[in-house]
Amino acid sequence: MKVRVRFAPSPTGFLHIGGARTALFNWLYARHTGGVFILRIEDTDVARNTQEAVDVILDGLRWLGLDWDEGPITSNATGPCKGDRGPYFQSQRKDLYQRRVEALLSRGLAYEADGAVKFKMTREPVTIEDVVVGKVVRHLTDREEQDPDFVIVRSDGEPVFHLVNVIDDLEMGVTHVIRGEDHLSNTAKHIALFRAFGVEPPAYAHIPLILNGDGSKMSKRDQGASLMSYRDDGYLPEAVLNYLCLLGWSTKDNQDVLTIPEVVDRFDLPQILRHNAKFDPKREKLDWLNYEHLRRADTDRFNELVVRTLEKAGIHTQAWDLDFVKGALATAKDKLKKLNDAPGYLGFYFQENVDIDPAEELKLRAPENKPRLQQLRDSFASVASFDAATLEQSLKGVATTLGIKAGPLVHPVRVAVTGKASGPSLYHLMEILGRERVLRRIDTALAKM
Ligand code: GLU
Repeated sequence: MKVRVRFAPSPTGFLHIGGARTALFNWLYARHTGGVFILRIEDTDVARNTQEAVDVILDGLRWLGLDWDEGPITSNATGPCKGDRGPYFQSQRKDLYQRRVEALLSRGLAYEADGAVKFKMTREPVTIEDVVVGKVVRHLTDREEQDPDFVIVRSDGEPVFHLVNVIDDLEMGVTHVIRGEDHLSNTAKHIALFRAFGVEPPAYAHIPLILNGDGSKMSKRDQGASLMSYRDDGYLPEAVLNYLCLLGWSTKDNQDVLTIPEVVDRFDLPQILRHNAKFDPKREKLDWLNYEHLRRADTDRFNELVVRTLEKAGIHTQAWDLDFVKGALATAKDKLKKLNDAPGYLGFYFQENVDIDPAEELKLRAPENKPRLQQLRDSFASVASFDAATLEQSLKGVATTLGIKAGPLVHPVRVAVTGKASGPSLYHLMEILGRERVLRRIDTALAKM
């Protein structure tokens, strides 16, 4: 049987990382099994239903690269779908729900009460064989004992979540419902509805929630709750995907840095962890994963992403020679943790004159630095070739002449040339900057000393 799974978000104007992870697990399971991944927008709540709220979801999925396989043909499909297939929108499927409700009514499985339609809930305990949580037997609660039936169509004619969720899973032939554990409490109702429609329910896999570092439930306002905040903070989608995978799932061999094809290859439902995943607010693991994925990114993509990040920070690389830009960016490969570190790390390349950090300028003014820097300047001015290896030799030669180590020379030159105490390899960055700029920057610094 071909696996058919779906991500069924309600457009709330926000894509929570928990929701993104639910989408990811469904997508992974579909790709792992060669099945079908469906996107269904649960937008029956008209009040909250806006185009912007839908776009937030589509943007998030697009950014993560989670493409869906099916949907009604639309001429203006906006998502990462195959062909011109838009997502399903529940708001466009009302006739279907209507017909299903009439069928329940005519068979006496639902009834009208105060203008609403109520479903006759089974009085028997319902057993859920959850792939992740295990076997759960749901008895009626004390309150439900009084009146176990529940509303499926409100008195204003709007169908209720439980109803449309089940009808769609049934109509769409969903084989596995993979969703957040917060829906486990709804599952007995859903199973009862499936049976009322004469169909066996799909398999359920309820995934534990993502909690804050302190164990509290993550809310919309918590930092890091929104998927898109990660893009804005300079993380790569593949690093965020990798991180989300590991929140609630682990490989048999405990490997951490995984590419998407590697996860697709290994992903399976039984490995979903049963305990709640804790989100690390310091983002140490995410930062590390991002560093690893940035390092692995191929050069063209790395360059494109960095150029875009610099642009956002007001650093326009287009004004500079292409080889110079490529050379400059190469000195940051293997160094950046996040894309947003790029402006601070590389900004000095793209300025005529550097701004020296005030604290560093003070240190630079130490009396011994001026003659040292002067001597280095003369040596750099006379090297035959202005390349990293020669510059290193030149600096070490000056150190030997002065009878000091290289370290006390490296620092003042770096500050003079970049304005900062740390950055790319000094010899390489000087090679990229070229003789003229390096000497000019040293001269400017000397003039202030
Ligand atoms: N619209 C529901 C939600 O966003 C979907 C629940 C489900 O996946 O069945 O929570």
